[in-house]
Amino acid sequence: MKKSVVSIVKYEAPFESVKKAVELADGFANMPGRAKVFIKPNIVFWSKSVRFPKWGVLTTSRVVEDIVVLLKEHGIDDITIGEGIVGDPKDRETPAHAFKTLGYETLNKKYGVKYINVFDRPFETVDIGDGIELNFNTDILNSDFVVDLPVMKTHNQTVVSLGIKNLKGVMDIKSRKTAHSPEEAKNLFHCVPRLPDRLPPILAVLDGIYTLERGPAFDGRVHRSNILVASSDVLSADMVGARIMGHEPRDIPILANAAANRNRPSDLSDIEVVGESIENVASYHEYDFAYHEDDQRCVPVPLARDGITGLFYRKYDETMCTYCASMNGLILSAIRYAWKGEPWDRVEVLTGKKMTPTPGMNKTILVGKCMYQKNRDNPDIKEMIPIKGCPPDPKTILKALHQAGIDANPMLFENIDQLPGFFMSRYEGKPEFDESFFQVS
Ligand code: SF4
Repeated sequence: MKKSVVSIVKYEAPFESVKKAVELADGFANMPGRAKVFIKPNIVFWSKSVRFPKWGVLTTSRVVEDIVVLLKEHGIDDITIGEGIVGDPKDRETPAHAFKTLGYETLNKKYGVKYINVFDRPFETVDIGDGIELNFNTDILNSDFVVDLPVMKTHNQTVVSLGIKNLKGVMDIKSRKTAHSPEEAKNLFHCVPRLPDRLPPILAVLDGIYTLERGPAFDGRVHRSNILVASSDVLSADMVGARIMGHEPRDIPILANAAANRNRPSDLSDIEVVGESIENVASYHEYDFAYHEDDQRCVPVPLARDGITGLFYRKYDETMCTYCASMNGLILSAIRYAWKGEPWDRVEVLTGKKMTPTPGMNKTILVGKCMYQKNRDNPDIKEMIPIKGCPPDPKTILKALHQAGIDANPMLFENIDQLPGFFMSRYEGKPEFDESFFQVS
């Protein structure tokens, strides 16, 4: 049996470390000469209003530049960096600000690299099997070779978010929502494993200079880990990355299903690890937010510790897509700050696409169009408080919380752009969290 090679390298120096990781994995073996190359970093979020923690959340510009230089050394001139940052797809300013701040404009000047916001470009429908059609950016589809540069992070819905999951960012909004289908045979755990199947050959380089627990965003816990993982087989890279973060691929639906689709084992027995050993660099990364549930409440553990009662905020599931997910943390923070010690009136909050109301609740908040459409006629709802938008509008969320008797602070919803900035205080006085990794000089 021919084994897939995965390299693990400690990040020690600019360029040399990335070069070593790629060379050990023979990462360009499948790259045609004079290839048109598409680089997919992970820019899961951006704010142009405040500085926010990028460590473990975004691919470092250090690794992006090192890959560009390496490609140039291999005679590659046609290089495009592409990403579809989560947010309003009509907002052109935020992605432009992200690309400029991350140094992509400088990469263009220094090396002639192009960079694109995928929402400015056409999409093409691709059949990924089992009747599932997704719209992919045409630039990646028409490239000859893809360099997939995710951050090494765990993820509260998918356990890990690595090379395969990173490819979700080249689809249009409609397809991203489709990938969170409530139908089991078409859900996130079935769509995501197929994302690489119709793409050109992929070199995956997992950027673990900073790794993230409970990702995908800035509210997770970051580590300076100094790890790079590379392979010309994206599933193999992901399986090794998962084990480094303490999770067995067989227990991770997107990886177990990707392995099964390819008739491969999920125990790494068909993978050869070169460079560092997994054991040498492994450290356990939590992925989940624990919830506390009893007959008085259902809330994340920190809110239960605050003593919150009378609120049943059901734990998110895999059907809640990114746009509702980005509001979820805000709603929970607003609820936490609004707690004054008086039990709320058995308020249930439902999210995603498949939750149903619990009999015996007095008020039911339905977050997002999907919840409203699913449950609007449900007789178990005594008082319905719908938030109908897709994605839900912050002002409507605030109004709904007030209607439920939860006195949320309007400032939180008016200054939603500022929130990520508050997380910067965690990193003050810690020189290992170095902003220059996200700059190109
Ligand atoms: S309402 Fe929320 S869960 Fe439903 S499609 Fe819109 S963003 Fe996704």
